[in-house]
Amino acid sequence: MSSPTSFSPIGPVVGVVGAGQLARMMQQPAIALGVELRVLANDPGESAARVIVDTRLGDYRDLEVLREFGQGCDAITFDHEHVPTEHIRALAADGLAVHPGAGALVHAQDKAVMRERLTGFGAPCPAWARVDDLADVERFAAEHGWPVVLKAIRGGYDGRGVWVCRDAAEAAEALATGVSLMAEVFVPFRRELAVLVARSPHGQGVSYPVVETVQENGICVEVLAPAPGLDPEDAAEAQRIALKIADELGVTGLLAVEMFETEYGLVVNELAMRPHNSGHWTIEGAATSQFEQHLRAVLDLPLGSPAPTAPYVVMANLLGGADPDLFKRYEHVMAHDPGIKLHFYGKEVRPGRKIGHVTALGTDLDTVRARARHAAVYLTTGEYT
Ligand code: ADP
Repeated sequence: MSSPTSFSPIGPVVGVVGAGQLARMMQQPAIALGVELRVLANDPGESAARVIVDTRLGDYRDLEVLREFGQGCDAITFDHEHVPTEHIRALAADGLAVHPGAGALVHAQDKAVMRERLTGFGAPCPAWARVDDLADVERFAAEHGWPVVLKAIRGGYDGRGVWVCRDAAEAAEALATGVSLMAEVFVPFRRELAVLVARSPHGQGVSYPVVETVQENGICVEVLAPAPGLDPEDAAEAQRIALKIADELGVTGLLAVEMFETEYGLVVNELAMRPHNSGHWTIEGAATSQFEQHLRAVLDLPLGSPAPTAPYVVMANLLGGADPDLFKRYEHVMAHDPGIKLHFYGKEVRPGRKIGHVTALGTDLDTVRARARHAAVYLTTGEYT
């Protein structure tokens, strides 16, 4: 028996740097569109490397590796935001179509650059300042009051790199980590919202409905689409802000804008420039999933409809528990609720790690939410809710 070891691409080739679950979930729409995905992984066991035939192994911090990876790609995009900005610039200078480009992506990599730029064009942000030492934090607190939120300028995720400090002693602890920090006022928000928009190189933009993200211990556990009870004017305003940010920064591909809803209006928290956890609901819950939308955008194709497919869609993340064998619990969940959709990322189960998600769709929010929660809790713990 013989098997082909290499073949020429038939459709456009999109290279994705990073092989986590986001790259993995791009594979499904790529199959439908006839787009050939190529992925740059650190290890053949990574989530996307397990499902993408053209997996290359190498270090994304090495420019020569990136250059070789980009050969023959019609577009290059990312599964994460850690590729050095100067490497992205170098790839673009070589003539490669990198989306998003370095000038946009830096705003998702560096929170201080993002705050400077956003406040510069009037996007609503909390008061903030760069801080080098405790004296800087105390000056900030004297002006704005405690608590002060200290944030790692680069490299934070899932709440790691965010310290809510009630006093100088707590601020000193955060400063002792040695990472570069900025200070923000503590925003007394009602809830957290997210707006996902897509923008293509030729400037077309679309916005998905505004969603509510429910966080526990700094990790998103649930997404409600659309955000229940959101004033239609606030929803339109949130979409306008997100589209404006995409335009101002020249984003190409997807942009997720995390916001706080407060009694005095919307406040932008942070940005991600790639498919985002707050958009996983779109796989079944929107006419065009965020993963298809991202492929369309980076290939500069017309964008797809973001219209929802049901009045309410709830996505619940599966966070690893003590038991590594989840498949034995499929039978109950699938039999109990034939409408529930399960997604596993092919990642080893570790406590607290995002290993998958479930999605439920329907007309009554409480019922849809209870269904998603039941499936998520049962799959990860074996417990009934
Ligand atoms: P990460 O990059 O780790 O996701 P975020 O900036 O999104 O960090 O912050 C994580 C969480 O910390 C937010 O979801 C929110 O709950 C809380 N948080 C962040 N900034 C503020 C703030 N200025 N005021 C109040 N809470 C905040």
